[in-house]
Amino acid sequence: MSNEDTIPAHGGTLVDLMATGEEAERLTSEAEHHPKLRVSPRELSDLEMLTVGALSPLTGFQGEDEYRSILETMHLTNGLPWTIPVTLSLDDEELKRVGRSESVTLLDPAEEEPLAVLRVSEVYKRDREAESVAVFGTTDVEHPGVRALHDAGDWVAAGDIHALRLPEHHQFQQYRLTPRQTRAAFRERGWNRVVGFQTRNPVHRAHEYIQKCALEIVDGLLLHPLMGATKSDDVPAEVRMRCYEVLFENYYPKDRAMVSVFPAAMRYAGPKEAIWHAICRKNYGCTHFIVGRDHAGVGNYYGTYDAQKIFEEFEPGELGIQPLFFEHSFYCLRCEGMASHKTCPHDDDSRVILSGTKVREMLGKGEKPPQEFSRPEVAEILIEAMRS
Ligand SMILES: [Zn+2]
Repeated sequence: MSNEDTIPAHGGTLVDLMATGEEAERLTSEAEHHPKLRVSPRELSDLEMLTVGALSPLTGFQGEDEYRSILETMHLTNGLPWTIPVTLSLDDEELKRVGRSESVTLLDPAEEEPLAVLRVSEVYKRDREAESVAVFGTTDVEHPGVRALHDAGDWVAAGDIHALRLPEHHQFQQYRLTPRQTRAAFRERGWNRVVGFQTRNPVHRAHEYIQKCALEIVDGLLLHPLMGATKSDDVPAEVRMRCYEVLFENYYPKDRAMVSVFPAAMRYAGPKEAIWHAICRKNYGCTHFIVGRDHAGVGNYYGTYDAQKIFEEFEPGELGIQPLFFEHSFYCLRCEGMASHKTCPHDDDSRVILSGTKVREMLGKGEKPPQEFSRPEVAEILIEAMRS
């Protein structure tokens, strides 16, 4: 067993914004008197990520200098890579309410108990056009990320966060590990090299294969499904979690793989989000990160390999975490195993390839996709979920 962490946090120090002891008591009583601001579900995810250090080295919502620096250079003003600004929106009414207050109390979208106190360092105007182009590569409001940006207020409040508690969750409690806890879990298991896998979908054979290929060269696998806000047509979180559980129960070695929740909200920012996801996983203690084709993509906004190519725009070692790039994979009847275009010389007639649309259609009719495509246990859960 090792006492060393697998990898330092981004910027060197794992941030922890949770107030404790007397500071927490003082904050709780002062929080009553500050103007109140209800954060959106997306911002709630960001607040949770900030609090537990998943967004290290950030200590709060970002100011205009950082905002511009990220949009223009993909780096913070101190030179560290960073690709998506982490901001707190205000609409005109909220701007008035905040006024010149030095502190604001942040509330959950649905609860009254304060979550955190924001020490307001500045308020500035959001540059929607520049942010849309830099982060999403488009200003098309059909893009779910651009849409969310348009729905957010015109103003941005920045400043350090002093958290009083984490947002309350009613699901997956045993899977909600903070970066400190995943790091401790890796140490306990004696893992020095850990690969992280981001997903917002059920895992079929192709992704299982990619995860296991990566696991062959490291000590452990962290399946880290994103459980913050996603598009309404993505598979619901509780259904996905049941799929991961049944898969782990039947097909993954318990001492080499673990599941934990990634509390982030989905941006669908493709390449920019691939870098951001990698940095976050580094904070969770992963040394390696899987980047597939069209990572964090949506529609046809990004090229198939854009999310892999963007890693070349950073100096070697700048990110710290090692990306592992994968092709789509499939079962090949002639190879008699899982393979990819890189490893299988046969043509599509030998390969078990189904489109997402086809799979949904089959599941909707209560048909299991071939077991070369989906584990039958996973297919059963998806069929059951589509019935109800
Ligand atoms: Zn083949």
